[in-house]
Amino acid sequence: MTTTALQANMKAQRRDNIKTGRAHLLIVEDEQDLRDLLSYNLEKEGFRATAVETGEQGLLKAAKDRPDLVVLDLMLPGIDGLEVCRSLKSDKDTADIPIVMVTAKGEEADIVAGLELGADDYITKPFSPRVLLARVKAVLRRKQAVGSTDSDDHAIDLGDMIIIPERHEVRIGENRVDLTATEFKLLHLLAKRPGRVFTRQQIITAVHGGMSAVTDRSVDVQVVTLRRKLGERGSDIETVRGVGYRYRDSW
Ligand code: CA
Repeated sequence: MTTTALQANMKAQRRDNIKTGRAHLLIVEDEQDLRDLLSYNLEKEGFRATAVETGEQGLLKAAKDRPDLVVLDLMLPGIDGLEVCRSLKSDKDTADIPIVMVTAKGEEADIVAGLELGADDYITKPFSPRVLLARVKAVLRRKQAVGSTDSDDHAIDLGDMIIIPERHEVRIGENRVDLTATEFKLLHLLAKRPGRVFTRQQIITAVHGGMSAVTDRSVDVQVVTLRRKLGERGSDIETVRGVGYRYRDSW
């Protein structure tokens, strides 16, 4: 790819930055205080928000309204959040709707299960409105970026680091970073969705094609090596305790 093509490519990527303006959000939360808090903060930011109390209502509303994103509490009476997530993701009409889970501390196993069912992100109670808005906006932004172009071939511009998929090349400043094919795939997977948490199983599936010989532990080892090779930029790859790894989001 020529330098000009590369610059055009990166410009296109920046253009993907959002117009979240009137995105319609569906909130599924049984606790009234939290439901009101979520609605209030999201509407204040200009989103259109519909709030329901149960998983059953959430499924009906999602099918009928096709919201732009669902904010989904995991602990619900009746159909719980994971079941709602599974249903939404297995129905082709709702499978593309991004889901941000609302979880409690200590629910790491459920978070992992939700991410592997296809949820996009989560927030842990108690959360600040700033974190809520940042996560929701980031998920909507990633959604638009994926929808608008073939994001897998995009060069990824990360300030002084650039990832060029078609050349399998990573540069930090003037220097080319020497990565194995596996390390490159791992970095590319995380960096093309900054802020998105990937579970170890998702990493194994994406990077190794789900080879059963690859263990969670070997993913951890690969991350350690990758961080070391990236030097100061290595800290951009964050460990999310009990859940997995993500590339630092700039917000
Ligand atoms: Ca709840």
